[in-house]
This record gives sequence, C-alpha cells and structure tokens, in this order.
Amino acid sequence: MQTLAEQLICKKCDSILSLMDSYEEKRVGLASIFYVKCRTCAVISSVCTDKQHDAAGKNIHFDTNTKALVGTLNGGMGNTHLNNFLCSFNIPEFNWKTFKTHEKEVGSIMEKMAQESCKSAAKGKNKLENLARTLGISSNDAHNAIADVRMLKEIGIN
Ligand SMILES: [Zn+2]
Repeated sequence: MQTLAEQLICKKCDSILSLMDSYEEKRVGLASIFYVKCRTCAVISSVCTDKQHDAAGKNIHFDTNTKALVGTLNGGMGNTHLNNFLCSFNIPEFNWKTFKTHEKEVGSIMEKMAQESCKSAAKGKNKLENLARTLGISSNDAHNAIADVRMLKEIGIN
C-alpha cells in the first residue's frame, strides 16, 4: 500500500494522481500496473502495486510474484496448483509465461542453494530437528519454512 501511495505523483509536474483517472490496468502475475493520467498536465504515469527487484540482471520482477513462486515450488506444486489456489480466492490466475520466467529465476537460486546445502546438510539436519522438536512442529514443516526464508534472502527481498 505504501509502495502504491508513494507512486501516485505525476512524473512531469508533481501533481497528486488519482487511481480514478487510471485508464488501463496491466496485470503481471499477482501485481498490477496502472496507467494514470494527470489532471493537471495530462501526462500518463505508470503506477505499480508492488516493489520490484532485479532478476538475474536482465529482468525486473515484482517481489510478490517471486514470493508466490518460492512458496509454490517449495510446496512441490506447479502453475496449475497455484492457479487453483488463486481461483478459490477470486484472484485472477498467474499466466503461464509469467510463471515460467519466475520459475527460471527461483530455479537457478534453488540449484545454487542445493549445492551449498549438500555440504552442510549433515550439520544442519540435527540442528533443524532439534529446533522443530522445540517448536512442536514436524521437521518437514520447519524445513519448508526455512527454505522459503533463505531463498527470499538469497534473492534479496523479504
Ligand atoms: Zn502532471
């Protein structure tokens, strides 16, 4: 919400923009870009609903979409599962192309992390099982939660 509010200022004349003057919405996964016309100077500014980050240098991805992919992949699910889930909340679905580009981003990080974690797996496994016991959750749940957090940290978002 903060992210959206901060952008509601005309790029040209600094006037306050209103989402009521939005003439188009472009959906990118779970995020949206609104094209808003300034009432003062009529210049059109793009306003995004979410923060973005660099994905492997060449693409800009919305944080929320990468987070959705991390959760989906770590849960052992794919695009269809994610869309069924979104559908039950009346949220428009994640299109196949957007899913693929984000899957690529998250996949390459997963691979890197898997290699690193092989090295420290034995050490970490004991620690994790002790932690899970203390928290009263299954070590599988603990492992999934930690994988999500570590991956988002690796990507540079939280
Ligand atoms: Zn303006």
